[in-house]
Amino acid sequence: SETKQVKQFEAEVSQLLKLMIHSVYSNKEIFLRELISNASDAIDRLRFAALEDEELFEGDTDLKIRVTYDADAKTITIADNGIGMSRDEVTENIGTIAKSGTREFIEALSGDEKNDAMLIGQFGVGFYSAFMVADNVELRTRRAGLDASEGVRWESKGEGEYVIEPIEKPNRGTEITIHLTEDDAELAEGSTLRHIVRKYSDHISFPIEMPAEGEDEEGEEEGEKFETVNQASALWVRPRSEISDEEYQEFYKHVAHDFEDPLTWTHSKVEGRLKFNMLFYVPGRRPFDMNTNYEGKRHGIKLYVKRVFIMDDAEMFMPRYLRFVRGVVDSDDLTLNLSREFLQENRIVAAMRKTAIKRVLDMLEELAEDGEESKKYQQFWNAFGPVLKEGVVEDNKNRDRVAKLLRFATTHDDEPAQTTSLAEYVERMQDGQDKIYYVTAETFAAAKNSPHLEVFRDKGVEVLLLHDAVDEWVTSHLAEFDGHELQSVAIGELDLDFDKKDEEGDEEDEAEKKDETPEELEGLIAKMKDALGERVQDVRVSKRLTSSPACLVAGEGGVSANLDRILKKAGE
Ligand code: ADP
Ligand code: MG
Repeated sequence: SETKQVKQFEAEVSQLLKLMIHSVYSNKEIFLRELISNASDAIDRLRFAALEDEELFEGDTDLKIRVTYDADAKTITIADNGIGMSRDEVTENIGTIAKSGTREFIEALSGDEKNDAMLIGQFGVGFYSAFMVADNVELRTRRAGLDASEGVRWESKGEGEYVIEPIEKPNRGTEITIHLTEDDAELAEGSTLRHIVRKYSDHISFPIEMPAEGEDEEGEEEGEKFETVNQASALWVRPRSEISDEEYQEFYKHVAHDFEDPLTWTHSKVEGRLKFNMLFYVPGRRPFDMNTNYEGKRHGIKLYVKRVFIMDDAEMFMPRYLRFVRGVVDSDDLTLNLSREFLQENRIVAAMRKTAIKRVLDMLEELAEDGEESKKYQQFWNAFGPVLKEGVVEDNKNRDRVAKLLRFATTHDDEPAQTTSLAEYVERMQDGQDKIYYVTAETFAAAKNSPHLEVFRDKGVEVLLLHDAVDEWVTSHLAEFDGHELQSVAIGELDLDFDKKDEEGDEEDEAEKKDETPEELEGLIAKMKDALGERVQDVRVSKRLTSSPACLVAGEGGVSANLDRILKKAGE
């Protein structure tokens, strides 16, 4: 509608805002980084939209962000000439929280201020972070291509409601004015702001302008001089040696919309038959929505073509099992106007994707090699292990590389933490042992207490304790590692008498064993077969058990009880 309206925030937004306003989050100045990040995204999106419709530039192709301030009024204003927003878009984007995982986030809040402030840092709330320093935020915007009369003004004190009304706005884009609280008033000062911009937003590829030093501080005055305060070039095309770790980290927060540092990154320039740049990051933690919606749909890989933003979520550059990777791909070979469908089938994209996978696996291997003292690989594994495991199933070509990156809980230490690599398992194998044994169950406790393990524990043979849902598929696709077959302890016959094994092979042994039912037990076995009838294939005397009286075993080539359970659940 065309009128002034007072609207209520969504309940979740209200809750978040309250948290923001009362935040003890120590790093309040990052609000500026968030608003500049949004401005940069908006310019990216305008430039992309203008590839199809040049009119959207409205004659102004001087794309930039401006930060001005007024010490007397205690305000800071961030203006961009990006894509802007229509009235509907403002209500949609600013009044609600589209971010997936919000519910999980709110549920994780404890009411304890310190703890919750830390959680904000993990969740990242973008635009709303302005309320850490503001008692009033005013947003004026107009969508590119719409009439000047279709401008929108939005204002809120962050207390449950906001005002939205139409305004006249001749220039497209968005302008956000922060009315600073008394406590934060000192932020409205030239050198302070310049410092914050350089610290957090130097990597932004568009110019960020501020009133030239020594100029009158009032923004937008006639004849006022502005100067660019950031490097204003695409970070990913700059040489690695010229980029500091801090810059890489801040750039990550921008592309990944994350508030925390990444775990590691890999940056490379490829200059062969194809020319492209890639910068990939591994996030430091699992996103809040990992369990419900971790498709990486929103902020995965950004595709640029010759420095021009083309799309978010360019999933065609990364296989599903690496969907936790964030970053940028910039191609010199692709053309500017491409559809998603076209890209899916493109040969250039396929070649780039191959290199991308290689780079990411290199990066993970390097992290894993860092060893115990760095703990980073373990942090990665705890966050994304179950996702990476899918690679064993999905990526035939790289199966061996992925297998080396896997980590498991085992009977070696009986701890739930997944820390043992297959290589370590092999190193610890007993003389004569040639198989890698595993058990799958619904939980760690169930795996650890499986009666199938008794004989293994007795004989000191290590067993992998698997309890992630994906493990059944992993083991069914990973036939062997380093020449050692993977063998479920719950399937078929077992032969753990490694040292007694002779050249004749197992067949004879097993035949012997089958006949081994001691006479005094024959009657019992017959009775049990009778009682169980068709529900079992066979009843036999077992060597697996040392203290449990009986256990269920799947037949050779059969599925374990755990997979049976998963399949039944999936079929429901
Ligand atoms: P995110 O950047 O992670 O999407 P934010 O809370 O920072 O989350 O921003 C919410 C949304 O508001 C953005 O996705 C965008 O649609 C819109 N938005 C914010 N700032 C601007 C801007 N300067 N120009 C256009 N749209 C904006
Ligand atoms: Mg943002």
